Amino acid sequence: MQPSRFNVQVPLADRNDVFLMNTFSDAQVIVSSDVAGLLERVSRGESRFHGEEAESIQTLLEHGFVVESRERENSDLDDYFHNLREDTEQLRVTLLTTLQCNFACDYCFQGDHGDYNKFAEKMSMETAREVAAWIGRQLDEIRPEKFVLTLFGGEPLLNLPVAYYMAEECHRLCTERGVKPGVSLITNGLLLTPDVVNRLVPYGLYGVKVTLDGDRDTHNRMRPLRGRQGTFDRIIDNLRHVAHLVPITIGGNFDESSVDSYPDLLDFLKEQDFADKIAKINFKPVIKAPAPQTPKGMIPLTVVSGDKPLGGTCMTSAGAGAGAKGGSSVCDSCHFVDEKMSFLRDETRKRGFPTPDGTHMGPCEIHRRHAHTIGPDGSLYMCPGFTGSKTESTGHIDDRAESWRLEAATRFAKLSPKKEECGECTYVPVCGGGCSVAAHTELGDMHQASCHKGAFESAVAGLAERTAASVA
Ligand code: SF4
Ligand code: SF4
Repeated sequence: MQPSRFNVQVPLADRNDVFLMNTFSDAQVIVSSDVAGLLERVSRGESRFHGEEAESIQTLLEHGFVVESRERENSDLDDYFHNLREDTEQLRVTLLTTLQCNFACDYCFQGDHGDYNKFAEKMSMETAREVAAWIGRQLDEIRPEKFVLTLFGGEPLLNLPVAYYMAEECHRLCTERGVKPGVSLITNGLLLTPDVVNRLVPYGLYGVKVTLDGDRDTHNRMRPLRGRQGTFDRIIDNLRHVAHLVPITIGGNFDESSVDSYPDLLDFLKEQDFADKIAKINFKPVIKAPAPQTPKGMIPLTVVSGDKPLGGTCMTSAGAGAGAKGGSSVCDSCHFVDEKMSFLRDETRKRGFPTPDGTHMGPCEIHRRHAHTIGPDGSLYMCPGFTGSKTESTGHIDDRAESWRLEAATRFAKLSPKKEECGECTYVPVCGGGCSVAAHTELGDMHQASCHKGAFESAVAGLAERTAASVA
């Protein structure tokens, strides 16, 4: 018998209690410091307990705070990662309808800069038909209960014929096979009209994610049109007209120059007549690689966050998971990121908006075999973060055998959510070594950990405080 290595203890201020969380079982309890002391005794090798102590030990065992042995716990973790990888319950496809974008954000290599849009790929209807056929084959092979199509880009609404076709066709393919279909849309919001939403809702549109990078002035500086005209007012107007039709998530990419404007954005959103229709708000840092090492063609990274325990994490705006950020990598913005993530989550919560708790990140979709990203030419990628670089493509929907794609597939197959350098870290089950795209961009090696442990620690401290307040 041993204490789990995934226990986190947070002593609660002004009381003799401890918040205890296990990042593997996801159990969370508030116990007296005596009970926490039992864990210490178990770790010293004591195994005989009587009366109330024995009952407490039994409860700790049931919730995963005490485990049979370290070996057994490690093998359970391996099984967990294996099952996550092979999970067939869901088939997820993130589809880039185009790499073109109508914004000219400074932090993004995509977008309306120079002649980028002239050469950026756009999916043809012919390719869309081939993608739909590929999805049909995948549905037959995997037989999932649920299928989720995420429309992404570039700006996905710049290719409406393909967006509509794919939503309709996937809905048909799923309905024929008794699979539950769903569509989500990640857009900059400029072209988000009731017509677009009404057209997609019958085919399973269940959520739209729109990015606001700070208050009005800051957003207009961060996310302008090519001529530097602002986009904030138009996006807000669009949100006002669609918020009653579909749940809206607000995302935002902050950096040192914009982060202080987010409380004003939150105040502004709180005053809007659609405030109660906002399903979630989640702000994430722009992760910048040191300039000389910046690989061309990576999409901007943003820490992610999600709403499902042990669910998914993504550093791109495509992500549905939770933000893995903390402080021990070479990333020079870690400390800033950890602190500000916490600050913005608190500010968001203070205004009554739902926001991820920052602890439930989960290994992201790159570790799931049945989550795919498809580029405008039908190239397959392991995650949205690698789509800007063709050499990272791991296959193609037409099954063409090209040695460079096979090589990439072999490289990605070796990606593990258990990184050697993470060692005995308490957060492995909810982190999985962080974002592989961030590791690739910041460290030059996607197999390394992209660590932001400090963010986990402050998120758990926040969760402890809120849990204590809710039971007081
Ligand atoms: S590797 Fe990074 S960008 Fe890719 S899915 Fe995971 S968190 Fe998102
Ligand atoms: S990257 Fe590794 S060491 Fe850092 S928080 Fe995640 S699991 Fe822990």
